[in-house]
Amino acid sequence: MARKKANSRKKKSPANGVGKKTAPAVVNQTPAEEKAAPIVEETAPVAEKTEVTAAEPAPVEEKTAPAAEEAAPAVEKMETPATEPAPVEEKTAPAAEETTPVAEKTETPAAEPAPVEEKAAPVVEETAPAAEKMETPATEPAPVEEKTALAAEEAAPAAEKTEATATEPAPVEEKAAPVVEETVPATEKTETVVKKRTSTRKKAAPAAKKAESSPKKTTSTKKKAAPIVEEPAPVVEETTTINVMSDLPRRSVAFIGSECHPFVKTGGLGDVMYALPRELVRLNCDVRVILPRYACIPQQYQDKMVYRGEFYMDLGKTGREYYVGIMEYICDGVVYDFIDNQEFFSSGNPYLNLVDDIPKYCFFSKAALAALNFMNWIPDIIHCHDWQAALVPVYLRTLFQDSPVGHARSILTIHNLRFQGIYNIPTIQYWSGLPDSVFNMGALKQDYEDANMLKGGLAYADRITTVSGTYAGEIQTSEYGEHLEGHLRYHSGKLRGIVNGIDYGMWNPETDPALAVNYGLGNVLDHKMENKLALQKELGLEEDESKFVIGLISRLTNQKGLDLVSSIVPQVLDGNTQVVVLGTGDKQYEDTFRYYEDTYRGTFSACIQYDEARAHRIYAGADALLVPSRFEPCGLTQLNAMHYGTIPIVRETGGLKDTVEPYNTFTGDGNGFTFDRYEAGLLLDAINRAKTEYFTNRYHWDEVVQRDMAKDVSWENSAKQYKDLYLELTPW
Ligand code: ADP
Repeated sequence: MARKKANSRKKKSPANGVGKKTAPAVVNQTPAEEKAAPIVEETAPVAEKTEVTAAEPAPVEEKTAPAAEEAAPAVEKMETPATEPAPVEEKTAPAAEETTPVAEKTETPAAEPAPVEEKAAPVVEETAPAAEKMETPATEPAPVEEKTALAAEEAAPAAEKTEATATEPAPVEEKAAPVVEETVPATEKTETVVKKRTSTRKKAAPAAKKAESSPKKTTSTKKKAAPIVEEPAPVVEETTTINVMSDLPRRSVAFIGSECHPFVKTGGLGDVMYALPRELVRLNCDVRVILPRYACIPQQYQDKMVYRGEFYMDLGKTGREYYVGIMEYICDGVVYDFIDNQEFFSSGNPYLNLVDDIPKYCFFSKAALAALNFMNWIPDIIHCHDWQAALVPVYLRTLFQDSPVGHARSILTIHNLRFQGIYNIPTIQYWSGLPDSVFNMGALKQDYEDANMLKGGLAYADRITTVSGTYAGEIQTSEYGEHLEGHLRYHSGKLRGIVNGIDYGMWNPETDPALAVNYGLGNVLDHKMENKLALQKELGLEEDESKFVIGLISRLTNQKGLDLVSSIVPQVLDGNTQVVVLGTGDKQYEDTFRYYEDTYRGTFSACIQYDEARAHRIYAGADALLVPSRFEPCGLTQLNAMHYGTIPIVRETGGLKDTVEPYNTFTGDGNGFTFDRYEAGLLLDAINRAKTEYFTNRYHWDEVVQRDMAKDVSWENSAKQYKDLYLELTPW
């Protein structure tokens, strides 16, 4: 989902003082469409095709490198049946017609697109073609010794595997048991209540503090894979009452992803990583969420983390051993394990630029699996999210295949296909240490010289999900496929869409502490006005409850339809309408909205900031919320809005289409106002239809407000679908 852009590249300080990290030469951030036509690869072997068509989990032999099933599919092949392997003709057709403008592609963390000629293999990369080596502008040339180390690394693949397993299991089970189950009264026979464990928690605090400092103390004691035998401190567990449906089959799931509310969030991925695990705990899953321990995680959570152990891990062809610390925090039955390494996670923003992010997430993906082995906590399912964790399924079926965690089945969820982790092959090979066999057109390889981490993950994952049914279909077309449409069509047999929900604990207008006045279904009509007045006051807008207030809460990027919005603002501001924008992102949009605020003082408010509490107040105080996205995998803002009685005005794409039923003026049915084609005129028309209903047919408008508030947009149903998927993969 959301990815913030990078500003600059920061130097990293070695975490363990051992060796020196060799920087890859220079980034390739050239959008794929700028590249030469892809090579036509050979036909995929039968085994690969069988994997795709089979509903059953792939047998072990299929887990080796998926072959080159398609070089570049023809866009016309949209109608290819879901389970059909890609026909041979597809392979010869380069995706010539690109519908997405170049600007969109560079939206990926790439803040400073590097010129093509800067794309070079890491200096140590033996397989890099000579031409590339000559080109290397080598910002930090690798020292000669590095090459020796590389050779050693390559010669010892067995050590790699051992490293992941050779660690003494940490006594996780007793300490980290996420729930204390107690039988509930007869009326709730099927459920189990998780009680607070405040008394044991208290004891943990001092030990936690002491343990927390230990990673620093031990950084110089570099011993490969040797866990520091240290009694982990009792885990600080924060648990409110959770009703666990203990009669359901139990499964253990490791979530691996790059952000999670409330620790770090830049968009919807953070919301999902927070809410879905909590809901899965209720469905009798044992869930562990594995995250980077970014330095930007608020101190209040850093303080609650407890040291669980540490080990050293080699990484790719760096020839170095990297410190991997595990810090743990348990909340509401979910265990959060933070992978600690200051060298990779010390910046103030989780996403910087690909120069930093590629090594960071290679490290993170590998360390996450090694940590599971280290903790001897082998999940039934490993559920990975977006490109940052997309190498996990690849590692699982290569370097970790013969380690304990290799038994787990994997799911990769696409929250936003636009972000894929694309870089030149030598660099990704260098940092990941993955075997040559995975760098083929059926897995990581893309075009002539790039590797695509998401593409590799999609090939190796046992199942692929994305966050709405409509988006699952859209991404198999050239319009939305971000150059992976052929790959996704090829793997469509294991792809499905499950729409996101929202966490009713986090989003509840009855209890939301950010609001001026709390309200529920029964008193929304009165109290929403009070919230509107409070919002107008807060933002310096004319305080008038009769005004129609339109909110927009979004990352300010090309994806979100902001060019449409900015082109119609003068027509929307008719004297009876106010607009509130909350977001950060591309400068052009930030400046445009600032300009409108200056020009239309008192009726247009531009809050160029990320402010969670203000977002809640806008959901409560606005009458309508705009989501005119160019594409939208799921979208959460329209769900938040509906739950707060704010009517969404959305484009019919992705999850917006699946969650907002168009209002029908004749029957009065529907949840919001919609438009289909990506055109400013159609957006304006939808806004005008909403206004007409609001100003001339308030009775019906109010009915929609109440219907939206009553609509079930919780995680309950979606989490059940994920649980079903887990059971499908682990049918015992
Ligand atoms: P995406 O993940 O593409 O950014 P989503 O609609 O899936 O979009 O999720 C956006 C989430 O981030 C919502 O919870 C929304 O309220 C929140 N959000 C977006 N921008 C801001 C902001 N500037 N301040 C506070 N919350 C924001």
